[in-house]
Amino acid sequence: MEYRYLGRSGLKITEITYGNWLTHGSQVENDVATECVRAALDAGITTFDTADAYANGAAEEVLGAALKGQRRESLEIFTKVYWPVGPKGPNDTGLSRKHIMEGINGSLRRLQMDYVDLYQAHRFDYETPLEETIAAFGDIVRAGKALYIGVSEWTADQLREGQALARQAGFSLVSNQPQYSALWRVIEAEVVPASIELGMSQVVWSPMAQGVLSGKYLPGQPAPAGSRATDEHGGARTISGFMDEAVLANVQKLRPIAAELGLEMSQLAIAWVLQNENVATALVGASRPEQVAENVKASGVKIPAELMTAIDEALGSTVERDPAKTESPATRVA
Ligand code: NDP
Repeated sequence: MEYRYLGRSGLKITEITYGNWLTHGSQVENDVATECVRAALDAGITTFDTADAYANGAAEEVLGAALKGQRRESLEIFTKVYWPVGPKGPNDTGLSRKHIMEGINGSLRRLQMDYVDLYQAHRFDYETPLEETIAAFGDIVRAGKALYIGVSEWTADQLREGQALARQAGFSLVSNQPQYSALWRVIEAEVVPASIELGMSQVVWSPMAQGVLSGKYLPGQPAPAGSRATDEHGGARTISGFMDEAVLANVQKLRPIAAELGLEMSQLAIAWVLQNENVATALVGASRPEQVAENVKASGVKIPAELMTAIDEALGSTVERDPAKTESPATRVA
């Protein structure tokens, strides 16, 4: 497993991170979740991503329990704040000082840890002055509850404004966490150039387009039993945007390219995002330990330029590139 630096910081993280959205505390039973974490550790993954809102706190609890007893210094733990938690009252959401301060304490309690390595604003909050949000994050860093601060799904302008305020407050934003895959390339035009300029990395989510780029969803056929597309806890809804006949047909055109590289389709998808040097890590989910073992083999893979072009041609117009698709809710969700 190879490591990369997180933004312009000294922190090294594994270029494949294990993420537990939709799985821990929800789609997957706790014993299987623990086996997936064990498989990740066995494969050399030391970086883990979760959020307070995943399964309303249960995902952090499951991850914390699964990592209990591991040497803390050998792990990099990422969590997030913004989406509603607990009883979802008016102050249980967003990036106010109150919610950020209560949010970090709740996350640390559920994770059974004294600090997280990266604390991320899970979206941009249009209802809270950015100065208030950045000041609260700075205080969390000074209190030692988080070592680094990042954001998720912020636009290029929001990254610029946030980074300027953070530097005035004596720290830096090191990362942005956007959706990025061969099918979803909306960060390439604006967010990536701004991030390079600002010394920030991308920590990318759904590199496999939630499993679609593994090629297991065949056009015109029912989704395989037990897959995210059949998960009524939320997975079926979140993957639905990719469950389109034209998308599924184009994904099948990647099979010969993966075969030429001696890779599984899932590995090709993860390796594809890692070809972008502004990407520090691919956040990969798994519902079974065997998936983790398969996916980690994407680390270190180089895809030749002509095959990157062949991937573009295969996916054609089903690739989303519109920078306006980087967005946060206009008002806080409660
Ligand atoms: P992926 O694109 O990696 O999809 C993972 C899912 O694909 C798995 O749960 C599994 O689902 C399926 N899968 C995994 N490996 C294989 C394989 N080898 N063959 C076939 N199917 C496979 O990413 P996620 O959508 O899970 O997101 C990853 C992480 O990103 C999250 O856990 C979270 O940490 C982060 N995230 C952040 C967001 C944000 O707003 N900041 C939003 C969403 C995610 P199944 O077996 O059920 O089909």
